[in-house]
Amino acid sequence: MKRKTSQLKRALNEAVGIEEGDIADKIISIGYKCRKCGRCCMGDFGDNTVSIFPFEIRHISEKTGLKREDIAVPTPSEDRDDAGNIHTFEWILKKNRDCTFLDKGLCKIYECRPYICRTYPFYLLEGRLMICECEGLGNTICNEDATKMAALLKERYIAEIRESIALLEKFGGFVPSGKGDICVHDSEGEHWL
Ligand code: SF4
Repeated sequence: MKRKTSQLKRALNEAVGIEEGDIADKIISIGYKCRKCGRCCMGDFGDNTVSIFPFEIRHISEKTGLKREDIAVPTPSEDRDDAGNIHTFEWILKKNRDCTFLDKGLCKIYECRPYICRTYPFYLLEGRLMICECEGLGNTICNEDATKMAALLKERYIAEIRESIALLEKFGGFVPSGKGDICVHDSEGEHWL
């Protein structure tokens, strides 16, 4: 665990040093413009699972008045402790095939949607720009939008690493506590449901 945490701390230092301009240039060369097709939110067009951070759940809750259980569910898992309780890491946006916030092709929480939604179809993996399937790829994107997307991608990547470090620092293993039968481990500790 210690070794993994120090690896993540090194990755965090590198992430802070990422040149947003380089990412923006790559995004411009790829081209992207959202076509508002909603496919990335639908279950019929591939994996529309959206991981969500505890602070993002809170932000959506503050903006909408919704409770956590109306916004997110535990990440699916088969891991169990000795007492048979399920253990999992982190949360995903609620969905019933399509995202629970998709309404007639539009996002009901557009202004406070999670990082994954705001940076789709892009993400950073070990500091490198990666792309998911999307109808909007190949379309012209202006410098300003590419620069904004690059800044958001770097912000998300740093948040991902920080979340992993905090989770590992709080993680106490799969120990039955008797407070529920599902335990979600995240950067804020254990949540028994
Ligand atoms: S939160 Fe909005 S953008 Fe994200 S998957 Fe749901 S409907 Fe789509």
